[in-house]
Amino acid sequence: MVNDCTAVWNNCLQTIRRNVNNQSFKTWFEPIRPVRLDDGALTIQVPNKFFYEWLEEHYVQLLKMTIRKELGDGGRLEYQILMSKAGQQQPAHENQLRVPQAAVPKTGKKKSYQPGGVDAGNIKNPFIIPGIKKLKVDPQLNTSYNLDNFIEGDCNRLARSAGYAVSKKPGGTAFNPLVVFGDVGLGKTHLAQAIGNEVLKSDPTKTVLYVSCEKFTNQIIESIKNNAVNDLVNFYQLVDVLIVDDIQFLKNKTKTQEIFFHIFNQLHQHGKQIILTSDRPPKDLEGLEARLISRFKWGLSADLQVPDFETRRAILESKMMKEGVHIPSQVSEYICYNIQNNVRELEGVLVSLIAQSTLNNQEIDIDLAKRVIKNFVKQINKEISVEFIQDLVANHFDVPVEKLSGKTRKRHVVVARQLSMYLAKKMTDQSLKAIGDMFGGRDHSTVIYSCKTVQDLLDTDMIFKDTVVELEKKIKLTLSEH
Ligand code: ADP
Ligand code: MG
Repeated sequence: MVNDCTAVWNNCLQTIRRNVNNQSFKTWFEPIRPVRLDDGALTIQVPNKFFYEWLEEHYVQLLKMTIRKELGDGGRLEYQILMSKAGQQQPAHENQLRVPQAAVPKTGKKKSYQPGGVDAGNIKNPFIIPGIKKLKVDPQLNTSYNLDNFIEGDCNRLARSAGYAVSKKPGGTAFNPLVVFGDVGLGKTHLAQAIGNEVLKSDPTKTVLYVSCEKFTNQIIESIKNNAVNDLVNFYQLVDVLIVDDIQFLKNKTKTQEIFFHIFNQLHQHGKQIILTSDRPPKDLEGLEARLISRFKWGLSADLQVPDFETRRAILESKMMKEGVHIPSQVSEYICYNIQNNVRELEGVLVSLIAQSTLNNQEIDIDLAKRVIKNFVKQINKEISVEFIQDLVANHFDVPVEKLSGKTRKRHVVVARQLSMYLAKKMTDQSLKAIGDMFGGRDHSTVIYSCKTVQDLLDTDMIFKDTVVELEKKIKLTLSEH
C-alpha cells in the first residue's frame, strides 16, 4: 500500500511541479510525505497546521485538480499534521485541531486531521542563547526599560495601565493584541519593552521575545531563501509574549505580512500575548492587508501623546536621578518649555548638557542650556519663509509659482495655493494678514478659508494627507540641512 500512495503522490508532484515555480515547489511540496491511500483518499503528511493552511489558501485548486487527475472524480485528499515539540508540550486539548472553516466549502472535500504526535525534530531557534543547550529564547530586551521608570501622565495613562495589566496577565486580558501607537520619541519602544521585562519579573519561566519589524522581516526573507519557513513558524509558536516593534514597516511586504498573519493567529488562538507598536493607529496603516488590520483591532489600541509640561518635568527629573546629576529647577523648566514634542530630544538635551558642563568644567545654568538647545531644536518656525513654502509646493504640483498669487481658479492651482497658505500658517510665524499679502494681496479670511479646506481634505483624503506629510517632511529636512 505504501508503494501505491508513494507512486500516486509522485505522479501528483510531477503535475504540481509543472504548475508552480521552483521556489514554491521546494518550500511547500517537497516537505510533504504521502502516508496512505485508502478508498480513494490519499493522506499526506504536512509539517504543521500553518503549512496546511497555506496549502489550502494558495494551492487548493491545483491540489484538487491533481488529485482528480490521479484518482478520478471521487478522489480525496486528507491531511495529517506532524506535531511539533511545541505542540507536545501544550495541553492535550490544543492538539485537537479543528478544521478551519475556510477549508470545507472551498474544496468540497472532507478534511480529516490526525495529529500524529510525531516528534518534528529540532526546532531551529534564531534567538538561541549560545552555550545553553536547552531550548531557551533570549528575549532581546533592554532591561533598563521598566514600568517604574516609564513616567505616567495624561499623555500615556491608558497605554501604560493597559501595559501593566498585560504584564500581570499576559494573554489573559482583553488587550490582545495590545497596540501602542504614537509619534517618534514618545516612548513606544520603552513601554513595549517594559511590559516584556515586567512579565519576566513576575514569571521568569515565560518565553518573551522582542523583535523589531525589520529583524522579523529579515528573518522571514532568510527563511524563505533557506527553505526554512516552517522552522521559523514553529519557533514563534514557542513564544508566550511576542513584541513586534514598529509594524508600520510591514508596509507592502506581502510575504512577510502573510507569514506574520499565521504566526499571529496561532499565538492568539493559544492565548499568547501579542504586543505591537506603530507610528500611527492601526486603521491608518497603509500597505497592510485588511485582514491583518482587522486582527490588530481585536484587542486594544492605545496611543501615546505628547507629554504636557508637568509630565515632561517629571520625566526629566527621573532621568536626572538616573544620571545622578542635579540641575537648578529654573534650568530644567527652561528645557521643558523649549523641548515639547519629543521625549528623546528631552533626554538628548540633558545628556548634552551634562557632557558640556563636564568637558568645560562649567556649571549647568540657563546660558549653557540655551546654547545646547539651540543645537538641538531647529527653530523651524522662525526660519521657514512663506516664499520657500510657495516654491516647494508649486514645484510639487508643477504649477508656476506666480500662479499662486494670481487669480486662476484651475483646480490644481487652487489646491496648491490653499495648501501653501495652510503650510505657511502652520510652519511660519506670519500672521494671517501677512500670509494673505504674499498671495497676491488676499484677505485674511481667504487664508482662514484655505486652511479649513485643507484641513477638511486632510481628514478625508488619505492620498492628499500623504502628500502633505511628505511636503512637511521635505520642508523640515531642507531646513535642517542648512
Ligand atoms: P519611540 O519608540 O516611540 O520612538 P522610545 O521608546 O524610544 O520612543 O522613547 C524615547 C526615549 O524617551 C527613551 O529613552 C524613553 O526611555 C524615553 N521616554 C519616553 N516616554 C517616557 C516616559 N513616559 N517616561 C520616561 N521616559 C520616557
Ligand atoms: Mg521605537
